[in-house]
Amino acid sequence: MPELRQNLATREWVIISSERARRPNAYIEASDRILTHERPEHDAHCPFCLGNEELDLEVCRYPEGSQGWDTRVVRNKYPALAEAGTLVRNFNGVERYITGIGYHEVLVEHTLHNATLALMTDEEIRAVVDMYLRRGREISDDPRVEHLVFFKNHGERAGASLVHPHSQIIGLPIVPGDIRHRIEESRRFFDDTGQCVFCTMLADELSRGERLIALNDHFAAFVLYASSSPFHIWILPRTHRASFMHIDEDSLIHLAPLLRDVLFRLYTHLNDPDYNLILRSTPTKEPENGYFHWYIAIVPRLSRSAGFELGSGMWINPTIPEECAAFLRDGAVAL
Ligand SMILES: [Zn+2]
Ligand SMILES: [Zn+2]
Repeated sequence: MPELRQNLATREWVIISSERARRPNAYIEASDRILTHERPEHDAHCPFCLGNEELDLEVCRYPEGSQGWDTRVVRNKYPALAEAGTLVRNFNGVERYITGIGYHEVLVEHTLHNATLALMTDEEIRAVVDMYLRRGREISDDPRVEHLVFFKNHGERAGASLVHPHSQIIGLPIVPGDIRHRIEESRRFFDDTGQCVFCTMLADELSRGERLIALNDHFAAFVLYASSSPFHIWILPRTHRASFMHIDEDSLIHLAPLLRDVLFRLYTHLNDPDYNLILRSTPTKEPENGYFHWYIAIVPRLSRSAGFELGSGMWINPTIPEECAAFLRDGAVAL
């Protein structure tokens, strides 16, 4: 019997289609696929490769002031939003608009063209996370910015147009409807129970254990009970905190190894699948609060959405989340 499962945090429903369910190993990418680490280390035409840096677009680099770099942040060459200008709101009947003020930056994660988070060292991943944090804090200081979106597209099916490992940071002058919905649902849960819904989910996942993939003192990674697609993973900090921008040093130290562990499992078990990674945090002007809880979502792009998803806002997941978790928990394969 298929099952409709509800995500406790968003109250969204998914169909776990046991009738159509495929085993997790049916999602292993083709063996003739060129894996990220098998690509060349340098591409003469890549704008992020060493020697091709467009310095006029650079926002900052790490280490600062050095000739070389480990990570860099650059302004997107074709930004969705403009940094300079004044925020003007014009609400006139059906025509309501706000000038497109905001930030659209690219975080170049490594000097090597064929590097990928799954295979980086803890120190290298830490440098990436530090840059997320640094730019996150700096952009949050701009009073015109209401919300930050941190994301990564890995692979073509995830929307990446460039192979070179990079993430994007967008600072928006509004809080998007989807984010508002999530905040409101978590606030409703808090009103009803006095608890953070994410802390509640985490406690439940830790006690059940069947969907856990990786764990340390500060973070837990699990396949979501109401996964909207195969191998849909959340990484939650085990200490309640609404904003990523307020993360403490101890948690930072523990984030890189856990992130690497999860991404390495995906890379080795599923043969370098395309995925989106999203870091969700409370809107920039909301203070630390008891109801929202920052986290990282990883969504491999293994099945395609279609008309039903568009028409209903509901997803059909053709895998069993517990089976996906068990598959990823099995010993990681060495490369
Ligand atoms: Zn490159
Ligand atoms: Zn919480």
